[in-house]
Amino acid sequence: MKRVSVLGATGSIGQNTLDLIRRDRDAYQVVALTAGQNIEQLVRDAREFHAELAVTADETQLETLRDALADTGVEVAAGEQAIIESGARPADWVMSAIVGFAGLAPGLAALEQGATLALANKESLVAAGALLLDTAQQHNAKVLPVDSEHSAIFQALIGEDPKAVSRVIITASGGAFRDWPIEKLTTATAAEAATHPNWDMGQRITIDSASMFNKALEMIEAREFFNFTPDQIEVLVHPQSLVHALVGFCDGGLMAHVGPHDMRHAIGFALNWPERRPLPVDMLDLAKAGTLDFETPDLDRFPPLRLARHVMEKRGHSGAVFNGAKERALDHFIAGRIGFLQMSEVVEEVLTRILHQCGLNDDVITLDTARKADHLARDGADAVVQELIG
Ligand code: NAD
Ligand code: MG
Repeated sequence: MKRVSVLGATGSIGQNTLDLIRRDRDAYQVVALTAGQNIEQLVRDAREFHAELAVTADETQLETLRDALADTGVEVAAGEQAIIESGARPADWVMSAIVGFAGLAPGLAALEQGATLALANKESLVAAGALLLDTAQQHNAKVLPVDSEHSAIFQALIGEDPKAVSRVIITASGGAFRDWPIEKLTTATAAEAATHPNWDMGQRITIDSASMFNKALEMIEAREFFNFTPDQIEVLVHPQSLVHALVGFCDGGLMAHVGPHDMRHAIGFALNWPERRPLPVDMLDLAKAGTLDFETPDLDRFPPLRLARHVMEKRGHSGAVFNGAKERALDHFIAGRIGFLQMSEVVEEVLTRILHQCGLNDDVITLDTARKADHLARDGADAVVQELIG
């Protein structure tokens, strides 16, 4: 039996992961399940899967969780440290599906105990890619990408010589505002941004898709994970979201990964790796899909793509600063304090200010320095927002 943990079990990726585990129940022993706030879902899942441990990030909910699982023998815990420790619980395979920077420390803990880390939490690669991959190497542990574009690239590279790769193209659906003129974007609301044309995802990543901050994170993620140079990484808008990524080789060949927009493909690929097994995803009918369109993204309407290039060049702690500032800018946008396009303004300003001030040595990224950069960036974003709104 494969021992598996799902960090961020109650979210969109977490629930899709549990759906796959449910379909092959006897093949898995569920070790740890974690949640932020959604205790009811955590309790349901811990009961159903006979988890060894159920953890909430919210310490005020510990008693509620304990009472709800009192008759089950499921161990319970709460708080940030408990979430990190749940990653350290011995397991063969750990799904990293917490949203945001909070996913980094538990992911590292999972790698330190030698587990295979299925990485949906792109923020950890953006904020501390070198740290994450070095930790994996030191502990002979594997990181498998779960972001659909990176799973696609990973799959297209199987059996290929990395030296023969000339470029990689990541596709973007264009999100909720693909065709919106720039004037309209300035007044776009969080509710409008939180509806995705193709994918059903958590609220934050859906808004990040509309702003293309998600694609910016994915460019940096590709840079860190596969070690492509920034000029090898391209983005094309592809409204149908059926081609997830393409890898170009020195002989002019392009390998495209094509599939329905169902995250259970990428999750299942990581769960079954290195084998391929049947998955409950629809077989794509390309004749029905008809046309596949591709277009160059508009950097004026989607400035995060431009900022990502800067971060990919600079590396070091700029990824943590970029991500931290983005997370706070997103909080402020959701709260209605800043406009949609102001999120990019805030992040750009924070990048300029913090990278000169923070005094972090970019050659060494540790969990502590990544945390420091993240904190500085969040505080910096708050300060910039305060100046903007007066
Ligand atoms: P979600 O918001 O649906 O779920 C996030 C999970 O993390 C929930 O279980 C939540 O309770 C938990 N959580 C939130 N804050 C926490 C904290 N501070 N500490 C501990 N737990 C916390 O998000 P999602 O859409 O499932 O995305 C999860 C991750 O996967 C993100 O990094 C996202 O970028 C990435 N991802 C998601 C998709 C998708 O289709 N949803 C696709 C690619 C990548
Ligand atoms: Mg993606």
